[in-house]
Amino acid sequence: MSARVLVVDDIETNRRLLEARLSAEYFEVLQAADGHECLKLAQSHEPDLILLDVMMPGIDGFETCRRLKAEPATRHIPVVMVTALDQRSDRIRGLEAGADDFLTKPVDDVALFARVRSLLRLKLVMDELRLRHRERECEAEPDAPLQGGAVLVVGADAPGAERLAARLCEPFTARAVSDPREAAYLAGEFDLMIVDVSNPRFDGLRLCARVRSDAATRQLPILAVVEADDRRTMVRALDLGVNDVIARPIDAGELAARARTQIRRKAYADTLRDRLDESLEMAVKDPLTGLFNRRYALSRLNQALDGLAAGGEPVSAALIDIDHFKRINDTFGHATGDAVLKGFSARLMSELRAVDIAARFGGEEFILIFPGAQVREAMEAAERVRAAVAREPFPAPEGREAILVTLSAGVAEARPGDDVEDLLARADSALYEAKASGRNQVVDAKKKAA
Ligand SMILES: [Mg+2]
Repeated sequence: MSARVLVVDDIETNRRLLEARLSAEYFEVLQAADGHECLKLAQSHEPDLILLDVMMPGIDGFETCRRLKAEPATRHIPVVMVTALDQRSDRIRGLEAGADDFLTKPVDDVALFARVRSLLRLKLVMDELRLRHRERECEAEPDAPLQGGAVLVVGADAPGAERLAARLCEPFTARAVSDPREAAYLAGEFDLMIVDVSNPRFDGLRLCARVRSDAATRQLPILAVVEADDRRTMVRALDLGVNDVIARPIDAGELAARARTQIRRKAYADTLRDRLDESLEMAVKDPLTGLFNRRYALSRLNQALDGLAAGGEPVSAALIDIDHFKRINDTFGHATGDAVLKGFSARLMSELRAVDIAARFGGEEFILIFPGAQVREAMEAAERVRAAVAREPFPAPEGREAILVTLSAGVAEARPGDDVEDLLARADSALYEAKASGRNQVVDAKKKAA
């Protein structure tokens, strides 16, 4: 995994040392000698990770971190604070300033690279999400909410799990569990899972791997509890995809700070994902009927025609028009007209295969695309739709007679070499024929031409 790392330290030897080790692992390294230079380089060079010394003249590491995290352009860069002091109060101060992790000087290579890999993996995912978010022109990025959350605490046995859960107080709600199967089953309902991987009688890492690989819980942050001197387990846990580790003996303040960081990150990623889903849907769907929109239908039709031209399977299309729709609007008003369009779309959908595509083409015009279908099958499907619509009238406003709706349709099968206009022109002329010869019918473009 190659990435750009910004090393910030007021002592040149320290910077050189970290640079040599990171370069040896093929990381690109930038250096800054103080907090101000760090902020400038973070803006101009967009590093993927910042290793930040705590003790520096001018603005110290805590303040630098706070400013990085307050700035939208640099907020998402993971920050690892590097400190000579292994004071828990410092760790908490750092986590509260928004630091993603801590390393103690002298920096241990194995620990360094395990942390760096883990944070870079996370950043890749977040960058991808943010990029797609921007491409889809979503609203401004959500602000990360700061709150508690539901935490699943998994220990080797019930008393151990309870003790661990008891270290988490307000605003978190903790549930203690000691059966890994129960934990895997429950995991999807929580904002964070804390797993004790320090007990040799209990294979917590296996649980972490399982939760990570299951689609339903892949996004759940995991915080692993390790023995302070057990570097091997710590590295294995991080490489397995655990988001963070905390060492025994556990300090309640540090536990809360780390839990908060993970939950905040998850909430942020979830919001991005939700908005992305929404905007993806909005880009392809017609808001009134829930069918696809014209643009999407045309692009799918194009794809299918390309496939046919390349020797692939056939494709047919039907153009549909609701008969005398203007009369419905004029007689009952637009609200009823809209309700008819919705009900009409639902009936239409109920007669189609899962692979067929139904789109609102505009107004009261619709298109159906039948991938893999020759004209005979497409005619049958369009006929089913016609019958389903005509079979039963649609509800009218209170006290008025239900509205009988019919449709006319023209069906055409694509010929190799057709472009979208060719195919739709034939379907449209069949539709015209259907209208001209009395409506409420489906016409095959080939028969019409013959
Ligand atoms: Mg220093």
